Amino acid sequence: MNSSVHFTTFDPLRDAPEVCNVCTLVAPILRYEFETDDESGDPYIIKGFCCEPCATRLLKILECSESREWAEEEAALAAADQDTTEVRKRLEALRAVLVS
Ligand SMILES: [Zn+2]
Repeated sequence: MNSSVHFTTFDPLRDAPEVCNVCTLVAPILRYEFETDDESGDPYIIKGFCCEPCATRLLKILECSESREWAEEEAALAAADQDTTEVRKRLEALRAVLVS
């Protein structure tokens, strides 16, 4: 399954917490839904409200998850003696974004 993160706006006067659910430090600006797999491959969803820095953090977590999946794909191709050039190029491009 592909991981995903969705951000939406919300009405601040209704059912929004006073602080971000992730850092619990500042007021939230977005509602989020982060969907991914757990260790055993079962899907799970984390929902809540987050501030701008935590929205960026959630996006970075998604990028890291994608990077890990590509690394696993490259290892599987290498183990099967298949060409890993394309996967390696995509992985390096993603790593360049993560370090910037
Ligand atoms: Zn936060």
